[in-house]
Amino acid sequence: MDLKVKAQSQKYLKKFVLDEGLCTGCGACVGLCPYQVIYHDRTVQLHPCDLTDGRCFDYCPRTPADLQAIREVFFAKEDLTPEIGAVKGYFFSRATDADLRAVSQHGGTVTALLGLALAEGWIDSAIVASPQQDLNREGVMVRDGSDLRKNAKSQFTVSPTVAAFHRLATENAGAVGVVATPCQALALAKMRFHPGREDAAKADRLKLVVGLYCGWTLEAEKYARLLREKEIDWASVLKTDIPAGKNVLEVFTGGGRKTIPFEEVQDCIREACRYCVDSTAEFADVSVGSARFAGDWEEVRQWNQLIVRSERGRQLVELAAHKGVLEIREAPAESLQELKEAAARKKTEALKNLVRKSGSVKNLLYLDGRDPAVKKYLEVENKIKKRSK
Ligand SMILES: Cc1cc2nc3c(=O)[nH]c(=O)nc-3n(C[C@H](O)[C@H](O)[C@H](O)COP(=O)(O)OP(=O)(O)OC[C@H]3O[C@@H](n4cnc5c(N)ncnc54)[C@H](O)[C@@H]3O)c2cc1C
Ligand code: SF4
Ligand code: SF4
Repeated sequence: MDLKVKAQSQKYLKKFVLDEGLCTGCGACVGLCPYQVIYHDRTVQLHPCDLTDGRCFDYCPRTPADLQAIREVFFAKEDLTPEIGAVKGYFFSRATDADLRAVSQHGGTVTALLGLALAEGWIDSAIVASPQQDLNREGVMVRDGSDLRKNAKSQFTVSPTVAAFHRLATENAGAVGVVATPCQALALAKMRFHPGREDAAKADRLKLVVGLYCGWTLEAEKYARLLREKEIDWASVLKTDIPAGKNVLEVFTGGGRKTIPFEEVQDCIREACRYCVDSTAEFADVSVGSARFAGDWEEVRQWNQLIVRSERGRQLVELAAHKGVLEIREAPAESLQELKEAAARKKTEALKNLVRKSGSVKNLLYLDGRDPAVKKYLEVENKIKKRSK
């Protein structure tokens, strides 16, 4: 996609993002004007707009941008890696509070870090994703640790969190922290990098982005159907997880644990996720995922992987260790290597899917083949192709 297509932004958002199946549901184009809304997990244009400098187009994580320029503004150049973005530190971590871990997805690192940032006055409010009746999540603003806990855990469906940021990060919100998947974190970074005049003060209020690792999200409608087929009542689901190396989705209800093989989940994955090159939220201050180390999964699942990316992230993690909010273990070099290899696989696969969609290696839709991270994985893909001929 040529950057010049920005003229008539909303029209091109439809043509190049929505109609191409690239929309991640992040919500960055919603709440800026009355014309764009999210209906369940779909982005809908209610009315045409002929503005030529639409912020909807600018902030969307699936429109072209100079990603290297954004990386170099927010992160130290010497920390940048092609596989997983900036790395200042890489650890295993978990909340020291066992009660918090019990209500969290894994080790409770995300909720513990945000709780600390609120308690220490680094932020005045946090935007997290609250579970909804329709299986999706909705961004909500919370101001204390108890509300953070109520909105912990993951359920692997979409949350238009950036729309909530647009709506709720008003002057009254003070300094704001956001929990974001990789696509949401990129949208927020694009806004902070080049905010529209109307958003400059709001962008300045964004003081912390806690990123989540993300492999994919599930389309709520299809996922609801799958749960019905498996005789799982959504209302009774207490937790959903992806245990390491098992290739199943685990669903816990009051009645116990059920597993759904990945092959059956495949159909529910949002199309946009197949074109996504970021699995670790490269544009966040810190990124958190489930831990992967040898041992009993019931023990491992109570830990997180933690990537420290920015100076702000480093200070927060150091404070969390110092105050005894987080227990932190040095992660071995092999774990970081495994993470990089997994991230590289997602990038290569996404690039392959983008080339397949556009029909040409020269057209990567929203990505630029000259970007250093993209270039590296295009070359990997080309080598594999040549070898297999
Ligand atoms: C869609 C999705 C896919 C994921 N895929 C992977 C993966 O492939 N590999 C991996 O290691 N980890 C993945 N994770 C992250 C993992 O599920 C945990 O969130 C992470 O390990 C942090 O654990 P925790 O105990 O610190 O989180 P908690 O302390 O429980 O906090 C989780 C936070 O995430 C927020 N949240 C939940 N859903 C969303 C959403 N859709 N958008 C934005 N915020 C949300 C909650 O509001 C809460 O603040 C994924 C998460 C999501 C939401
Ligand atoms: S990816 Fe986000 S910003 Fe782009 S069209 Fe979809 S919801 Fe809007
Ligand atoms: S896989 Fe990528 S596009 Fe899909 S939800 Fe996760 S970060 Fe967004």
